[in-house]
Amino acid sequence: GYIQLTLRRSLATPEKQYVGFATLPNQVHRKSVKKGFDFTLMVAGESGMGKSTLVNSLFLTDLYKDRKLLNAEERINQTVEIIKHTVDIEEKGVKLKLTIVDTPGFGDAVNNNECWKPITDYIDQQFEQYFRDESGLNRKNIQDNRVHCCLYFIPPFGHGLRPVDVEFMKALHEKVNIIPLIAKADCLTPNEIKKLKDRIREEIDKFGIKVYQFPECDSDEDEEFKQLDRELKSYVTMVFATSK
Ligand code: GDP
Repeated sequence: GYIQLTLRRSLATPEKQYVGFATLPNQVHRKSVKKGFDFTLMVAGESGMGKSTLVNSLFLTDLYKDRKLLNAEERINQTVEIIKHTVDIEEKGVKLKLTIVDTPGFGDAVNNNECWKPITDYIDQQFEQYFRDESGLNRKNIQDNRVHCCLYFIPPFGHGLRPVDVEFMKALHEKVNIIPLIAKADCLTPNEIKKLKDRIREEIDKFGIKVYQFPECDSDEDEEFKQLDRELKSYVTMVFATSK
């Protein structure tokens, strides 16, 4: 495919006679930009934690136009559902097909035993579907519905992780990149945030939960870039805090 494209382009523009692999990065770039990207983000946490607010402000769209709000009684009896919202976003000519996978009902019931099960089942199904598509004959237009990342909202009022948080993260950490967030962190003082973050970090270690780690930057990057990388990492250090 790439070589064909190179030839076609060089025929169309006679001054560019060069046919070689040096043009590959441009072509890969062009192709990916043209095709666009798929990104699937899962959000999980009790209702009222600010999930839809964060998603809407991250992507500057209203992804939750037709959301139905449940009253307290409906919420308690609700089972965990998986709802997908999809939008096509374009920024400077780059297309993104964004899918938000919402998990309403998670953590809302009185008995939250195994309430992560529908969520892990969903993630597994997406892996299986992708594997089937990749093994099939028509691989050209596969849609990647695998969950790339999961934002997990931890309530700000507790003193650390609750059993349901530990269970959820342990059930998912091998399948998806988990980014734990302290919800509505603007309700806490900077000191309280620090304490809660430290506590959560300790517990994440203690329970052997693997959360998303930012990749190491290449050792041959220049010193300025490395410094920037270190600074960025020091801000986030595993647990983020959100505020409106
Ligand atoms: P969801 O049920 O998790 O999707 O929560 P929503 O996004 O609907 O937010 C529930 C309520 O919390 C709304 O009244 C929001 O205005 C409010 N809210 C959302 N994010 C924040 C935040 O970061 N800080 C504070 N203080 N309130 C927030």
